[in-house]
Amino acid sequence: MSALEIPVARQLIDGAWVPAADQGELPVLDPANSKVIQRIARGGQADVDAAVAAARRAFPGWAATSPTERGALLGRWAALVMERVEDLARVEARDVGKPLSGGRMNAFIAQGIIEYFAGAADKLTGVTLPTRTPDYLGFTIPEPWGVCAVTLPWNVPTLLSAANVAPALAAGNTVVLKPSEVAPLGPLALAELAREAGLPPGVFNVVTGLGAEAGQALTSHTDIDHISFVGSTATGSAVMRAASENLVPVKLELGGKSPNVVFADADLDVAIPAIVGSITENAGQNCYAGSRLLVEESIRDEVTERVAAGMRAVRLGTWDMDLDMGPLVSREQRERVLGFLEEAPGEGARVVTGGAKAEVPDEGWFVAPTVLDRVDRGMRVVREEVFGPVLAIQGFTGTAQAVEMMNDTDFGLLACIWTDDVSRALRAAKEVRAGQVAVNQFHDAGVIGFPFNMQKDSGFSAGGGYAALREYTQEKAVAVRLLDR
Ligand code: NAD
Repeated sequence: MSALEIPVARQLIDGAWVPAADQGELPVLDPANSKVIQRIARGGQADVDAAVAAARRAFPGWAATSPTERGALLGRWAALVMERVEDLARVEARDVGKPLSGGRMNAFIAQGIIEYFAGAADKLTGVTLPTRTPDYLGFTIPEPWGVCAVTLPWNVPTLLSAANVAPALAAGNTVVLKPSEVAPLGPLALAELAREAGLPPGVFNVVTGLGAEAGQALTSHTDIDHISFVGSTATGSAVMRAASENLVPVKLELGGKSPNVVFADADLDVAIPAIVGSITENAGQNCYAGSRLLVEESIRDEVTERVAAGMRAVRLGTWDMDLDMGPLVSREQRERVLGFLEEAPGEGARVVTGGAKAEVPDEGWFVAPTVLDRVDRGMRVVREEVFGPVLAIQGFTGTAQAVEMMNDTDFGLLACIWTDDVSRALRAAKEVRAGQVAVNQFHDAGVIGFPFNMQKDSGFSAGGGYAALREYTQEKAVAVRLLDR
């Protein structure tokens, strides 16, 4: 098998790899040493116009293709992804800077997602509705939106491409994807595998480039029917404003400030490594990262000490060293994170461990895993998404205060509750305003098709599982009077 090749400075439009209309290019940098690893096309309005036109032309044929056949094509795509999973793992790891094992995990998850929606394509059904008298029939038909625009961030690009493109295609839509200019290679590799799997030209298009150019051109395009935006809250708000001009529905998956809540009866041997992992996986650059640690006062010192020890033990290295944590994705991202770290001590926070750059090895954008104590609810490091390996610890007493503190945030993505008491766990799960709750684990490990839901400023979406298939359809309601013939 040949190595997986990502065409240099090319975008996938109408089934062909083409340069940007004006031949512009952008470098993609290795987060571990700032060297250029690839060049991508710098797409703009003309490229987006061409991709949207291709997707529009392909839509009627794809929507009319039997769902079983659409599922079979997605199944072939999933099989190719499985064959190339190690290649994809390397692409993702190097592009984002995460350890190879993290890239591998993402590639396997992406494969599983595509396979899931391959199987779901011919299981999408409407409902029959009750009628007031027997001579009526009522039912619904789920229909694809049409041309779906998907705009993605850089932190888990391979997985997020699969999570948005696969359900859209399974439901009969065509797609134009704009990956992040910071880490676009995983989505480009997945698109090449989709092409090899035999997806018809125009069904899945990728335009690369800057947010202010290709991104804006796509999300404000007058011939798209649906937008999926995954990224920061500020950009999501701008995208929604642009979409409102054209009355295009928007699915938003935005930032987070997720709490790990540890009650005194929690199994700390299970909780501590998971808490450390929740803020160091992908160097803390995950929307669901466990960036707030709320600890019951009676065990606060012990937990702080054990978490700090766990953070100090995290081994830093480049993607191919495959240790525990890599650098941040870019110089800008590191400057942003260091800004929080410079500010917090001045406001009274205590740096328990970390708190600065980590110069291993040489030129990468590394930040030391950091624990901050004595933080206050008003501090920026407690309120804003840092998107780095920075954990802020706060104490609480009793379930009511724990819930109050969990909810003391603009975000509502994930909440993790650590306790042996089922009533306390379920009360907290019920009362927290978050789209996802985990009990005695971090995130959704072990649950198939877990809906990736969000509340408050984290967005609104059903970005995972069967619900995602519904997100990519609109429902038509049909009422029939059965005439007496
Ligand atoms: P970002 O908002 O800067 O960029 C996201 C995408 O939007 C990129 O492709 C970018 O090029 C594009 N973009 C930028 N400006 C645009 C504009 N004006 N119009 C249209 N598109 C534009 O986000 P980022 O820095 O790439 O990613 C980090 C953010 O993503 C974090 O806030 C993180 O929480 C969030 N995220 C959320 C989820 C989720 O599922 N909730 C998952 C992963 C990441």
